[in-house]
Amino acid sequence: MNNLTQTHENNILELAIIGGGISGLSAALKAKKESVNFALFESESCLGGCMQTTLLDDEFVAELGPNSFSWGEAWQEILNTLELKPLLQNPEAKQKLIYANGALYPASNPLTLFFSDFISLKTKWAICSEIFKTRPDNSPSEESIKDFFTRRFNAEFVSKLIVPLISGIYAGNISKLSMRAVFPLLAELEQKHKSLILGFLINSFKSKTKKLKRTINSFDGGFKDLILAFKTYLGEENLYLNHKLNSLKQNNNIWELHFESGKIIKAKNIVLSIPAYQAAKILPEYLADLNQIEYAPIITITVWLKESSLSEKDKQIYFKSFGFLKAENENINLLGLIFNSALFPNRSPADYVSGTAFLGGNFINESQIEIENIVKKDLLKIFSSLNENSIEIKFIKSWIRGIPQYNLGHSALITKVKNQLPDSIKLVGNYLTGISLEETIKSTF
Ligand SMILES: Cc1cc2nc3c(=O)[nH]c(=O)nc-3n(C[C@H](O)[C@H](O)[C@H](O)COP(=O)(O)OP(=O)(O)OC[C@H]3O[C@@H](n4cnc5c(N)ncnc54)[C@H](O)[C@@H]3O)c2cc1C
Repeated sequence: MNNLTQTHENNILELAIIGGGISGLSAALKAKKESVNFALFESESCLGGCMQTTLLDDEFVAELGPNSFSWGEAWQEILNTLELKPLLQNPEAKQKLIYANGALYPASNPLTLFFSDFISLKTKWAICSEIFKTRPDNSPSEESIKDFFTRRFNAEFVSKLIVPLISGIYAGNISKLSMRAVFPLLAELEQKHKSLILGFLINSFKSKTKKLKRTINSFDGGFKDLILAFKTYLGEENLYLNHKLNSLKQNNNIWELHFESGKIIKAKNIVLSIPAYQAAKILPEYLADLNQIEYAPIITITVWLKESSLSEKDKQIYFKSFGFLKAENENINLLGLIFNSALFPNRSPADYVSGTAFLGGNFINESQIEIENIVKKDLLKIFSSLNENSIEIKFIKSWIRGIPQYNLGHSALITKVKNQLPDSIKLVGNYLTGISLEETIKSTF
């Protein structure tokens, strides 16, 4: 897979795809289905990008990047083509938890949460009266997530519900993230119905019959199964690893791809499925503005907890839940924890349960030992039945430029960049249509 075959080195490719993450692989799948003469070039020695599965003790699946995906039409087409069966999450473990007021609250049912002591009476009133709050005529079209939800509800609503949601997806700053770019449908809902709650009620009534069931999935062997299936379908002869693209130059409507190794390949069309800051470096005359897109750092930590140390109450919480996210101003550092062995089989040995913990960017320069201590200290606070010897830290992965931030002005920036691009260059990836795997796949449509 590492050497360019004669075919691709001497001929002009119809399509060159740069980057072998989910967006590049999906673009390649589309090209293959349409019988386009393509080749995919990846800078690293393996495919997958953010999708990185490792096997602990040569057996147990641990994901260092995405842990699961939400089922949608985009996946349906890909998995049907690859003839790969997804692994549905254990339906018992569906409760989503929020860590607030120093405790774990079940948050899947909004009514249960509303009638608990999770939020103050003042915030309950802010929720009930949201329906009467009209959108002021002078409210800006571009607004931060924090400003939007504080305006519609209040500050406590934001720190208890919006902060956990955002840290779980973007690991970002809600004062900088753009409402229009991150939650376009909610922003529209306010425009259309003047109230989010009214809009929700009308929409859920209207769409009752045609709603696609959103389930959480992985694969038996984790995301490595997906990458293997892509490799088999796409054909190894079309996939080039260890090929870092340095620059693109146009000559008589043909693109010259200049690789770090000194090699030059020619192609008529290019799909750039690489992070925004890499695309900006490769084609600065068109894409320099993409340098403005920030990437938030995030650390994932795989932990194993001795099951026999957990109390019956903590076991009940663990095995019935997807995981938890932390509200603002709590006295723990973790952003959240996914309960892997509650969701999928083969994630830990018998007598252990596994979890993926998340820490934000402020810990990115800490040593491994310090990170281990922080995680252990927090887990002892959350599951009081654990003791230090019952927690094993198995893997720590630091993503220095982890998650693209859809900050204020993001949508306008993307529109401007796309408008000035020649038709022969297509941008795909997680900084365009949404950061989840599913939204990233959609950027290739
Ligand atoms: C820690 C973490 C947890 C996540 N959890 C989830 C989750 O549970 N569910 C979910 O749906 N989403 C999750 N996401 C988001 C999702 O995984 C990503 O948004 C998605 O995988 C990004 O895919 P991509 O193709 O856009 O980019 P990438 O995966 O970054 O792929 C880009 C590829 O381009 C290559 N490349 C870069 N520069 C060059 C160059 N010059 N030449 C050649 N190749 C180059 C890179 O090596 C890389 O392989 C998570 C992300 C992270 C970081």
